[in-house]
Amino acid sequence: MSIKKLDKIFNPTRIALIGVSKNPDSVGGKVLNNLVGSGFKGVVYPVNPTHEAVLGIQCYPDIKSVPRTPDLAVICTSAKQVPDIVRQCGEAGVLGIIIMSAGFKEEGEAGKALEELVRIEMKKFDGMRIIGPNCLGIIVPHNNLNVSFAASHPKKGNIAFISQSGALCTAVLDWAIEKKIGFSYFISVGNILDVNFGDLIDYLGEDEKTESILLYIESISDARRFITAARAFATTKPIIAYKAGRYPESAKVATSHTGAMASEDDVYDAAFKRTGLARVFDIREIFDCTELIGKHKIPAGSKLAIVTNAGGPAVMATDALIEAHGMLADLSEDTMSKLNDILPKAWSHANPVDVLGDSPPKRIAEAVKYVLNDEKVDALLVILTPQSMTNPTAIAQEIAKLAKETTKPVIANWMGGKTMTDGIQILNENNIPTYPTPEDGVRAFMTLVAYSRNLKNLYETPKNISVQFSIDRKKTRKDFLSSISKNSNILSEEHSKKLLHAYGISATIPEIAVSSQKAIKIAREKGYPVVLKIHSPDITHKSDIGGVMLNIDDDTMVKYAFDKIMDNVKSKFPEAKVDGITVQEMINAKDSVELILGTKKDPVFGTVIMIGMGGTGAELFSDKTLGFPPLNEKLALQMIKSLKIYPLLKGYRGKPPLCIDKLIEILIRLSYLAADFPEISELDINPLLVTKDKCIALDARIIVDSNLVGKVIKPYSHLALLPYPEEYVKDATLKDGLKILLRPIKPEDEFMWRDMLSGCSKETIYSRFRYYFRWDSHEAASRYCFIDYDREVAIVAEREINGEKKLLGVGRLVADPDHETVEYAVLVNDISQDKGLGSLLTDYCYEIAKRWGLKRMVAQTTTDNHRMTAVFKKRKFKFEFDQASLLVEVSKKL
Ligand code: ADP
Ligand code: MG
Repeated sequence: MSIKKLDKIFNPTRIALIGVSKNPDSVGGKVLNNLVGSGFKGVVYPVNPTHEAVLGIQCYPDIKSVPRTPDLAVICTSAKQVPDIVRQCGEAGVLGIIIMSAGFKEEGEAGKALEELVRIEMKKFDGMRIIGPNCLGIIVPHNNLNVSFAASHPKKGNIAFISQSGALCTAVLDWAIEKKIGFSYFISVGNILDVNFGDLIDYLGEDEKTESILLYIESISDARRFITAARAFATTKPIIAYKAGRYPESAKVATSHTGAMASEDDVYDAAFKRTGLARVFDIREIFDCTELIGKHKIPAGSKLAIVTNAGGPAVMATDALIEAHGMLADLSEDTMSKLNDILPKAWSHANPVDVLGDSPPKRIAEAVKYVLNDEKVDALLVILTPQSMTNPTAIAQEIAKLAKETTKPVIANWMGGKTMTDGIQILNENNIPTYPTPEDGVRAFMTLVAYSRNLKNLYETPKNISVQFSIDRKKTRKDFLSSISKNSNILSEEHSKKLLHAYGISATIPEIAVSSQKAIKIAREKGYPVVLKIHSPDITHKSDIGGVMLNIDDDTMVKYAFDKIMDNVKSKFPEAKVDGITVQEMINAKDSVELILGTKKDPVFGTVIMIGMGGTGAELFSDKTLGFPPLNEKLALQMIKSLKIYPLLKGYRGKPPLCIDKLIEILIRLSYLAADFPEISELDINPLLVTKDKCIALDARIIVDSNLVGKVIKPYSHLALLPYPEEYVKDATLKDGLKILLRPIKPEDEFMWRDMLSGCSKETIYSRFRYYFRWDSHEAASRYCFIDYDREVAIVAEREINGEKKLLGVGRLVADPDHETVEYAVLVNDISQDKGLGSLLTDYCYEIAKRWGLKRMVAQTTTDNHRMTAVFKKRKFKFEFDQASLLVEVSKKL
């Protein structure tokens, strides 16, 4: 697996340093110094044809003359030499490479071409991995490895920091040293020629020393890889991301409202949310959150208690908390009475607990102890201001003792100058995050609260919403493609709505009239009142030029409106080609809300879905939210709930509630449409009218990427997340004649999955998981039902009797991130055993693994599992027996 090859870079025994010079201030000189100074226990080979030795270490003229093959070559020569050196490294069998040299992509076209040359050389050597170019290097404190030109060595710790900016690396390093924060890895990725964020997240996700990951991102190159890697680990290791460079300008080129409303930054934001990352918005917040996670303090909930010796700062902290949607913890009666006993009468008698300015260390410590023990409190902020009686150092010591005895986060804000420094030092040494202001502390705390909240929401079990299509998808595609005109890449309202309609999204269908007589005829057929709209390939914003007339309720008015619209166009847009005027049903908009719904293709993350407040105010109020296909019921609902307009949908001030259920279904339907049509670059439903019983598209416009029309496009290559793999759904029959459905598992299956496991004996569970797996919780179930189809496919066997569905067994394939090896495991519940289901699932999963393009299928079982060993034997898997663990590893080339 090529991720494993990163071991060569992060845990090398022999390192060649190419381009090292005698000058201690040169990059090579500094790297050598750091390498030697960090206590690296392996061997370093400096390479330079002109020196005999540097720093007293013997130099070699080139990589092939070093005595033993290095694991890692670090290149700090001039850029133009790099392609040649990479080739020499490959020829010498060196597969791990860090290129520190600058002068590549960041310097324009010539540099870009040079980078391409390096890539060409790299591709010649199977398994070669490159970090950089234009990077600061890496530091792995646990391996005493500092291959960087940074000036300092950080402590050993559990945070991995990956940065696209070298300058930020050094700033974070300096700060971390002062704050006594340690790192597991410190990686400067530079221009990301090869090793990218996704690779590193996969590597660090598996790394035992890394507990959380911090990312400084300028841009993502491989969105699918990034998202799948981050999703694989976000639930077990917090990943905090900072995204630099927000370019609102890039949205301006868009034609539709959706295009204009979804900026690059919004898309990144949505991607981070969907992945389960915590996002921070400024550099200070990176520091603040790092401090909190670095000191192992992930809050369980948002209820904060504040203990202070001054009222003012506590009010500031409360403001910051409420603004960030946090909550002040409500203290229990027991805590209140204990506080009443120890505090002076004038104490605040509520949270924030103001112990008053004259408080000696013991009083604060006691108050802190009681508050921390309160079950209703998730975290504690201690604020101290220097008052005449205050002893900040002694109080810090007391707090440090108490913080050790609790799992709840304790954060501190020692406000003030010199008198506070000793106390702050003690807090830092005792792993208590400290902040210069109460707001900073609260903000960092709330970022992490939002992170855990978001994760919980992401993995909530969605309701099964059956989205049936009565359509022939092949024919719909053909119709769609034939509706694209040669002259314009914008589909007419009529054709746009027809496609929506085919996907079960209702719309008023416009019919074209070229004369007012024809318009009257259509109006009568449709029934009054009707709407007339201009029909022109050149006009996309119809009402802007007086091209829409509403509520027309008789023949005379139709004639009048027809002529009026024609006149309007003639005067306001004379050069527009007019194909006629359309007539459609007028929908009564009483007690309704107009929304905008759309999709747009982002250059990095592919197709995104947007929902927002519609009508003329759409762009003005910018009330919108983005999501990625595929959507499920919970994700769609969360999108709707995040709108400011949501209260209006729920029924506001005596108004009836609108049909949110239908709206959810429409979002899901739209996400299917988006997944099926990579050719659509923008789609706009504006407005989508939501009433108390229906959702209906009144206007729609689809913009097609004409470059893609007629091309063969890899299915779903335009999506950052893979949708449900419907192609794997098929019928099957068991030995006893029972008809079953084989299909990929989905999040909605949680209940059925748990029910299936409840029908398994301990032995069955043990032989599948090889330990007594505790499956009966939402967390466990969502790990097995809520999977990323890019890496994992689990096929369930489902049977239906009298409308009741049950799962009988599941075969699971988990691919490694590079899609080479796939691990297989199977479970069949007790009553379904001995009916050939295990064999059936194994054969089907084998076939899927092959179709998937994987190279090798492996599985583990035990010698006493005769059923499974027989299944694998019959299918000619290779067996390897491990005496110590009694495990049998079976494998087969695909
Ligand atoms: P534009 O090209 O200007 O966006 P629309 O087709 O959206 O034109 O029409 C403008 C407005 O007219 C819509 O926002 C909606 O409020 C109203 N409207 C359009 N079609 C209908 C209809 N069939 N029934 C009721 N109102 C409509
Ligand atoms: Mg419109």
